[in-house]
Amino acid sequence: MHPILEELKDLLGDKGFIPGDEAVEFTTDVAGTTASCLAVLRPASTQEVAQVVALCAAHNVAVIPQGGNTNVCGMTLPQVGQDSVLINMSRMNQIREVDAACSTISAEAGCTIGALQAAATAKDRIFAPDWGARGTAQVGGAVATNGGGQNVFRYGTTREQVLGMEVVLPDGQIWDAMRTIRKDNSGYDMKQMFIGSEGTLGIITKLVFKLHPAQPVSNSMMAVLNDQRHLMDYLNLAKEIAGDKLVAFELLNGLGVEKALERYPDLKRPFDTRADWYILVRLAGASSVDDTLATIFEQGFEKEYLSDAVMAQSLEQERNLWEIREQMIPFQYFPNHLQCKWDVSVPLTNITAFLEQAEQIAHRHHPEAISYAVGHVGDGNIHYCIFIERAPGIDLTELEQTYLAEIDALIWSYGGSIVAEHGVGAAYAKRMRQQKSEVEYAMMQNIKALFDPQGIMNPGKLLE
Ligand SMILES: Cc1cc2nc3c(=O)[nH]c(=O)nc-3n(C[C@H](O)[C@H](O)[C@H](O)COP(=O)(O)OP(=O)(O)OC[C@H]3O[C@@H](n4cnc5c(N)ncnc54)[C@H](O)[C@@H]3O)c2cc1C
Repeated sequence: MHPILEELKDLLGDKGFIPGDEAVEFTTDVAGTTASCLAVLRPASTQEVAQVVALCAAHNVAVIPQGGNTNVCGMTLPQVGQDSVLINMSRMNQIREVDAACSTISAEAGCTIGALQAAATAKDRIFAPDWGARGTAQVGGAVATNGGGQNVFRYGTTREQVLGMEVVLPDGQIWDAMRTIRKDNSGYDMKQMFIGSEGTLGIITKLVFKLHPAQPVSNSMMAVLNDQRHLMDYLNLAKEIAGDKLVAFELLNGLGVEKALERYPDLKRPFDTRADWYILVRLAGASSVDDTLATIFEQGFEKEYLSDAVMAQSLEQERNLWEIREQMIPFQYFPNHLQCKWDVSVPLTNITAFLEQAEQIAHRHHPEAISYAVGHVGDGNIHYCIFIERAPGIDLTELEQTYLAEIDALIWSYGGSIVAEHGVGAAYAKRMRQQKSEVEYAMMQNIKALFDPQGIMNPGKLLE
């Protein structure tokens, strides 16, 4: 047994210590990949986190912070051949204060996104981060990955919501910066280092976020796009008509919609038309948004951007539309296929061209390739996948390398990113390096070395 384990158990007690061989639920990621670690630790306070990290530093044991374990890039999988512990933050789940007057909320990092949303709603405010994993993903994880989701178009990414934080550094020191102020030009903004750092620089233990005024009324429409090339025209039309009432503008591929409806029989088909591309639009405001949504709806037909559409007539119908979107998680539908995936962002005006060219590349190398795209088009972000069925005689390794090289190059030719939203983790670390100039990559390495000279924080993630 590793000598650190007895000390950790004494420190955290039974509630805070799970031996590695009993922790499969924590060491398996959303795609079902599993790795082993010495133990999963569940500290209940910042002081406990600090003591654990100091102990790990003394024993040179790697530390992997873990929130809700909903990441999709192998971010919390221990590295093979390295002694490591997972520090799961779920016991640090107290909301400390909702200040409606200042429009701020402070909470421990292990609170779920859904818990902060509910606490904000109770005070007529909005906590902006929102996506399908809201019931499980934690605010510490959301900040460590700079999560995006459905509200980015209106409120920005998680980064833009953060005002203050408390962090345990890799040597066990506690940095308390639980500030609530909105302006502070007193030098380097150190909290930005930890936002999107994927647990490689320290463990976020508490956070202060901005809240926004409540938008209690919302409504959504789903529409059939006549031609993919009308995508930007329709987005611009919706922006002009709705202004800041426009909260989300999503692109859904026909295959994904069919798969979601097939797999989840409780979901209702919005209309009879089956098409290659759909748009899902949500407006929100302090009072009814129905007239504005109706104008977007009608003008879409007048300008021949749309060929069919439905405006939700009840909250239940609106939820149904968004549930279809949230169930369009591609890997669950193609278990017997090779999946090549990209989390693409390109300038808004290049989205259509990117989709057309990516599909051509997919079919050029394998006529049966499935090209799959769904995403937050309003933010220029598309989750794009190519699936190839595993069949005898097909060299999937070679195809995968070809697809990765050609689609990555296509994204970069538009000045885009292959990791727009979900982050880098282990899955993209090698490819992400090629996206950076040598100067930029060296700056990142230097920052890592400055915070974590021992290299114990989530090794193998983000940086190669
Ligand atoms: C159904 C579904 C839908 C999703 N939709 C979206 C989406 O629309 N947009 C989006 O951006 N993401 C989405 N995701 C991905 C995922 O939910 C986000 O990446 C989320 O922010 C991860 O939070 P988590 O608490 O689960 O973190 P984890 O998965 O546990 O960890 C993620 C990373 O953050 C680090 N970390 C976690 N907590 C801390 C902490 N307290 N301090 C320091 N580092 C920490 C970990 O080390 C790891 O590197 C989706 C996932 C699922 C399953």
